[in-house]
Amino acid sequence: MSPKVALKRYDSSPESLRQVIALCSGFRNLKSNSKILIKPNLVVWDNKFPIPPYGVFTTTRIIEDLIILLKEQGCSDITIGEGGLTMKGEATTFPAFEGLGYTALAEKYGVRLVDFHKSQTAIAKNGEGQQIRFARDAIETDFFINVPVIKTHSQTKVSLGMKNMKGCLKTVSRKQFHDTRYGLENWIQWLPDILNPALTIIDGIYALEMGALHVGSTAHRKNILIASTDALGADLVGAKAIGFNGDEIDHLKKYATRTGKPLQLEAYEIKGDSLADNITPFKWDWRWNEANTGPYAFEKAGIQGISVPKYDSSLCSGCSPLVNMINVLVMSAYKGAPFEKIEVLNGKKMQAQPGFDKTLLIGNCIIAANRANPNIKKALKVAGCPPSEEALLNGLKSAGIEIDPDAYSRFLIRQSEKYLGKPDFVKTFFECSTSCST
Ligand code: SF4
Repeated sequence: MSPKVALKRYDSSPESLRQVIALCSGFRNLKSNSKILIKPNLVVWDNKFPIPPYGVFTTTRIIEDLIILLKEQGCSDITIGEGGLTMKGEATTFPAFEGLGYTALAEKYGVRLVDFHKSQTAIAKNGEGQQIRFARDAIETDFFINVPVIKTHSQTKVSLGMKNMKGCLKTVSRKQFHDTRYGLENWIQWLPDILNPALTIIDGIYALEMGALHVGSTAHRKNILIASTDALGADLVGAKAIGFNGDEIDHLKKYATRTGKPLQLEAYEIKGDSLADNITPFKWDWRWNEANTGPYAFEKAGIQGISVPKYDSSLCSGCSPLVNMINVLVMSAYKGAPFEKIEVLNGKKMQAQPGFDKTLLIGNCIIAANRANPNIKKALKVAGCPPSEEALLNGLKSAGIEIDPDAYSRFLIRQSEKYLGKPDFVKTFFECSTSCST
């Protein structure tokens, strides 16, 4: 029998979710006494410069609908768990729970909220015997419900169910996943084996093209829900909904090859609304110039004398926001004269090239990787794992880049305001419903 994947247009709560779960028989293995874990995608939270939530976070509406449906099944042991990015040394999980109405949901429905960073560690092995460290709360559950949002990703092209499970890792394994040998997508393909999602619900009410806080990022009101008990099938349909075939997504391809599961959509029974009618092709990548010395925007602005090679898969989420910040600050500092032969390296494997007077090394990994590099005339080390924003600003200044320190704040403000007044972008999707008690 073909694995089932259901797709429904979202039109009301909780009926649309009820229908899509019923179509894929998503609760068939659920018991009223199951210990349930819901894993949304609440990637990061910033109270100072609020990130527009559309396509960035799983909607609070869908999580509330899911709780209502689970309660109808008689379930009472429900936990929502996430491990948001750390900013300024603090995990942003609980600020995200607070800002997105999850604390109100917890109070109203009696569900538990867990920050995976605070959870005990459980060590699991992948099929090749490599150890991976998880939050124990993510492992010790009877019924794992994975609720990602549809988005593209700068390293893995798409971020759907499999990628969302990376949020269950302890910090040490998050860094391990961005190693230089085994590779990010190789690691990701083991997550379904270990976390064993009983149900994947892909929230496509909003979907995000080209990242949250980058030039060119765009949220779309797609208004679809996808559900399946088959983790691969759900991701294949989610990927297709934004224009990608399974064989274009490395972690899906690796998982299918290893498990012998089908990568072609024809092998799945897609129930509900038409997938063909709900495809919107998304872009996922930022263009760098041919010499790999900067994003295409540098070339367009005529920026010379600086090389910022394109990030690679070894750049982990700790340092990743700094790369965007560097690009914005360099652009703000350019006043028409070439910079003074500077290169800026990040991640874990870039190597300094000849021809530069100053090499700015962002983060402990790249400092170590270039320790003995003979091409470096003057190393400017921005130490930290990840380095602080302050250290980065000081590093850029010490390289002679006359940055406008407020340029990045202005950029973030523009990003946070860009959906204001647009009728498709409705804030209440990211709040506990009005009947919430707090
Ligand atoms: S220095 Fe940066 S890239 Fe290296 S592990 Fe730390 S956060 Fe990740």
